[in-house]
Amino acid sequence: MTARILDGKGLAAQVEREVAAQAASLIKRYGVSPALAAVLMGDDPASVLYVKRKAEAFGRAGMRSETFHLPASTSEAELLALIADLNARPDIHGILPQQPMPAHINPRTVFERVDPAKDVDGLGPINMAALLVGRPRLVPCTPAGIMRLLEHAGIDVAGKDAVVIGRSVIVGRPMALLLLQANATVTMCHTRTRELTEHTRRADLLVVAAGKARLVTGEMVKLGAVVVDVGTNRVDGKLAGDVDFASVSERAEWITPVPGGVGPMTIAMLLRNTVQAAESQMRSARTV
Ligand code: NAP
Repeated sequence: MTARILDGKGLAAQVEREVAAQAASLIKRYGVSPALAAVLMGDDPASVLYVKRKAEAFGRAGMRSETFHLPASTSEAELLALIADLNARPDIHGILPQQPMPAHINPRTVFERVDPAKDVDGLGPINMAALLVGRPRLVPCTPAGIMRLLEHAGIDVAGKDAVVIGRSVIVGRPMALLLLQANATVTMCHTRTRELTEHTRRADLLVVAAGKARLVTGEMVKLGAVVVDVGTNRVDGKLAGDVDFASVSERAEWITPVPGGVGPMTIAMLLRNTVQAAESQMRSARTV
């Protein structure tokens, strides 16, 4: 078997066009462009590149983005003061504090301070709680992008045995909640999981978000499974996923490539969340 490709790059381009149309209609109706503020601390090259890619995507969709690039030595108090300013600005609809943050900053504190209406990463406590109780509002971009990719390919997750490797707040946990909401039977694995392979081998759907290059190999995967690779690792200067593409694509029915799978969908969902946040802020500003 050679797996079919879940083409995130192609679908992301389609989502970008949809978002661009929604943004144009908001500009026409309210005279204001949906806008994102990205907050970047320090000079981590991967983060600098992500923020640049996000800003380019906003430009392509006809939306505004501002980047606040702060030195790594910025104090938590100064960062929180910037977040408060951005919360108060009516021309900013989404706030994205880029991770990873320097060690002296607690990312949870930062996400707690972002106005839930502008929390376009969906990582603050209010949006997380909404997801937990099954009434999602702004949903974390990476797992939201994965759900859209599965839907687009006509993969119904209801009743499937889904295994998620990784339990981070940004990917693993919200991924498991979205799959549960879509009626999959979900198992979450992490570094304390015993016999990882026993879990992965019975997965109809396997989502790997561990940050360990080629953690999952062909013999760990059930024949005909759907395999989603979230990992972005640097190996010998090249981007590598958490899944060994060559051996896994011989057993899986569907697989995401790295690059070109989950990554572009994450950015597409950030655009979608920002336009959604902008629309509700513009609508409520008009009614007050
Ligand atoms: P993270 O915060 O480091 O979390 C990694 C998770 O994987 C942890 O829960 C950890 O378990 C688990 N894990 C690590 N090694 C494992 C192993 N050998 N067996 C089982 N579980 C293991 O990472 P993250 O932020 O979720 O990101 C995961 C990966 O996705 C990274 O490569 C990141 O760059 C990538 N990513 C990509 C996108 C995208 O758009 N493509 C977006 C976000 C993240 P413990 O909890 O027990 O430590």
